[in-house]
Amino acid sequence: MIEVEQLHKHYGSTQAIKDVSFSVEKGEILGFLGPNGAGKTTTMRILTGYLPASSGTARVAGFDVHEQSMDVRQHIGYLPETPPLYGEMTVEGFLHFVARIKGVSAGDRPKRVDVSIQQCGLSDRRKNLIRKLSKGYRQRVGIAQAIVHDPPVIILDEPTVGLDPRQIIEVRNLIKSLAGNHTIILSTHILPEVSMTCSQVAIINRGQLVATDRLDNLMEHLTGGTYY
Ligand code: ATP
Repeated sequence: MIEVEQLHKHYGSTQAIKDVSFSVEKGEILGFLGPNGAGKTTTMRILTGYLPASSGTARVAGFDVHEQSMDVRQHIGYLPETPPLYGEMTVEGFLHFVARIKGVSAGDRPKRVDVSIQQCGLSDRRKNLIRKLSKGYRQRVGIAQAIVHDPPVIILDEPTVGLDPRQIIEVRNLIKSLAGNHTIILSTHILPEVSMTCSQVAIINRGQLVATDRLDNLMEHLTGGTYY
């Protein structure tokens, strides 16, 4: 569903990512793990088709992110680190607005908005103004806007940053509930976030991947095997 080959990105003289390659199968959650400045957001933004790579290729849902960026945007849901939520809109008003921008037909919009509200546990907040919601609920709205057009691929950039422990657990459970129907990349700098939520992991440091594997294989490797 996602194939990345030898991506490089320079910002002037800064090499943000170097020779990044990985793939994600349909229905899996890849944890993209690395410290601040490692190159996670740069990689995510290239996959969304908004940021051109300096070299290398990436395909999302069968579309080339550079050559077919409009198609990629229709097939991807993106939650940036700071999602652009309109505080003066209600939850459902905002989701209708995003669905229209994402090309959902007028006939399909009410159903798609209802489904994403339900999936994200927002049913009792649908008439609320976004600015009146807690951080945890605002992040659910961020995820709802990412899935409102029912994209096969979802990219979540540090989705639990700034949340309290209870909200973190709720958002992680929500993300896990979306796997299977969606293929997900979740970027984070927190190892437990990956071990609790993801089936695959790619570890990035200073712009280069240092490991990519299924989570169970990697944990076994890190701990030196399973002992009874
Ligand atoms: P964070 O968790 O802090 O967002 P990150 O892993 O997402 O970090 P990136 O934001 O992709 O990392 O940054 C990778 C490198 O590229 C860093 O050295 C950063 O300073 C640099 N960088 C990112 N965006 C730009 C830009 N627009 N111009 C110049 N350098 C940039």
